[in-house]
Amino acid sequence: MKPKKLQVPVVGTEPHQPSSPPFKFPRREFGKKNVVKRSFLPQWFQRWPWLHYCEDMDAAFCFICVKAYSENKLNSVSNLETTYITSGYTDGKDACVQFPNHESSRYISPPGFPRRRKAPRRFEEGDAESVFPETPEDYYRPIYFEALDLITTSITDRFNRPGYNVFHNVQNLILKAVQGLDYEAELKCVANFYTTDFNYELLRTQLEILRANFTPNQTSVKITDVTEFFKAMTPVQRELLSEVCQLFQLLLVIPATNAVSERSFSALRRVKTYLCLTMAQDRLNHIMTLHIYRGLTDDLSLIESANRFIHGSDHTEQIFGKFVATDIKKCD
Ligand SMILES: [Zn+2]
Repeated sequence: MKPKKLQVPVVGTEPHQPSSPPFKFPRREFGKKNVVKRSFLPQWFQRWPWLHYCEDMDAAFCFICVKAYSENKLNSVSNLETTYITSGYTDGKDACVQFPNHESSRYISPPGFPRRRKAPRRFEEGDAESVFPETPEDYYRPIYFEALDLITTSITDRFNRPGYNVFHNVQNLILKAVQGLDYEAELKCVANFYTTDFNYELLRTQLEILRANFTPNQTSVKITDVTEFFKAMTPVQRELLSEVCQLFQLLLVIPATNAVSERSFSALRRVKTYLCLTMAQDRLNHIMTLHIYRGLTDDLSLIESANRFIHGSDHTEQIFGKFVATDIKKCD
């Protein structure tokens, strides 16, 4: 049977810890014969920062446990300390014992061995007893180091690639040019890779022109700033920086990870199926762009696109006239 969901107090992004004064923690009476008055002590917040105080109930909760419980992260835990989740700690007694106790209970038992299995006989060689680690530490140490080793190798592999180097050099060339730094080394690497694709004398001159458009020695310039700069230019102005523009376009289309390019390959299979084999390269490119940038495609105004198409020539204008917003509803 599924356990009943506990009632938990509503918590925000951090524990509620009213300061006193202005907040006055109510004093409660405990015991029948020897009545003692006790109240919540505000200095507990300093010692146990996870305490969440509920003013209506005059009770303390564990903020971390309540949050985890309400996000269904403690579903598999059987020995929940419900006092700190649903009823709240109201006693005011032995807080210096109770709170550290809750702190040290992590709902996780200390690491142990998995069930000891005998290796299959076909793997046995000689008569020696099979070796089994003596402590859980011995058992987990090689696994831990294996994981650590895998992580470091993966990170090194990711950045030590020729493709990544090209990307890095192109980006640094443009960034250093606009930041007013020396870019000769990067230019050399780019020239080695792209060989005859660029006119390097022209590129060098144009990089200097590009540099003149940015504040000198400003190291905070980012690639996005350069993008904005090129976007604001007219096509004729861009023609003046043709080589830099081409290099920048290359930089923008190099996929920094292979996930993007792999995703577009899988999309290709969906867009160009066996049923539309005759699709030409231009049309395929356009449809792929629309498909890959689905978010932007959804935001396109159909009326505006239709009208722009119509205004392309007098002939279409005569046939279609002008579309207005109500035309779309008629199509539905
Ligand atoms: Zn807790």
